[in-house]
Amino acid sequence: MKTIKTEILGADVAGYDRAAAILAAGGLVSFPTETVYGLGADARDDQAVARIYAAKGRPSFNPLIVHLSATDAVAEYVDMTPQARKLADAFWPGALTLVLPIKADAKVSKLVTAGLQSLAVRVPDHPVAAQVLSSFGGPIAAPSANPSGRISPTTAAHVRAGLDGRIDGIVDGGACGVGVESTIVSCVGAPTLLRAGGIPVDAIEACLGTALLRDEDPAAPAAPGQLASHYAPTGQVRLNAPYAEAHETYLGFGAGDAALNLSPSGDLIEAAANLFAMLHELDALGAKHIAVGPIPNHDLGQAINDRLRRAAAPRD
Ligand code: AMP
Ligand code: MG
Repeated sequence: MKTIKTEILGADVAGYDRAAAILAAGGLVSFPTETVYGLGADARDDQAVARIYAAKGRPSFNPLIVHLSATDAVAEYVDMTPQARKLADAFWPGALTLVLPIKADAKVSKLVTAGLQSLAVRVPDHPVAAQVLSSFGGPIAAPSANPSGRISPTTAAHVRAGLDGRIDGIVDGGACGVGVESTIVSCVGAPTLLRAGGIPVDAIEACLGTALLRDEDPAAPAAPGQLASHYAPTGQVRLNAPYAEAHETYLGFGAGDAALNLSPSGDLIEAAANLFAMLHELDALGAKHIAVGPIPNHDLGQAINDRLRRAAAPRD
């Protein structure tokens, strides 16, 4: 991966404006939240979101949390169920992430949701995160700002140690307060705990007046975490196909004829940006048999191949 200059930005108006400009141009900016430092990109921009995965070296596409400045802004993207409203009123801004049904017209990259019909949202409680969000004025997708497999960063120096030369900027806002990640509750169906974190489960249950289901609970609604790993087009998928048979629809990569092409120029970031949109398009085309061209297994190719292998795996 090409090295870029990572700007260290101050937690001041000039820093927030620069961070907003970088985000608007499709770049990556790390900023502190009350949990850990996040690695932010414009959640509407497929290529910018693909760059998050490239910078972190993530070997798989897990859906990302979208950060917004206020509950009103969140309601533009997801259906605020009555239970979600209660939790938002009680805990936002704060270290609680809600997974909710995404609105049909929500302008969010399919790479953010990993192709799912749900979206994880949070209003962070940190003055610097709040300022970056309001200067930018849009949704920011942000996982923790660490290389994949390393521990989450709680200072700008940690972020720099892990991602210097791989991201465009870091807003240095000092050390994070909570230091653990946000609690994640799905309100798609009965409220379900997907990850323990900064907001205690007891407080959430007291607010709702009911116990949370656990992800592994057989009574839990189809857990989005599991759906994430199972998302696949309806058609049968054959991988590493240099060309398609007559009955197959070809999803290509690089030069050559194809019904759909992840990246005619063979660019892995472009391919990642197109992946989920094209899998959905294959469904829309009614493709029953899908052949996918070979994709090199380096950089983002690893995450692309991971997702395609899941799509090609035998189904129940
Ligand atoms: P991180 O990338 O460390 O911020 O973690 C994000 C967490 O949120 C992961 O555990 C994801 O699986 C989870 N998550 C994000 N979006 C969704 C979603 N739509 N459904 C279920 N889980 C989600
Ligand atoms: Mg993380």
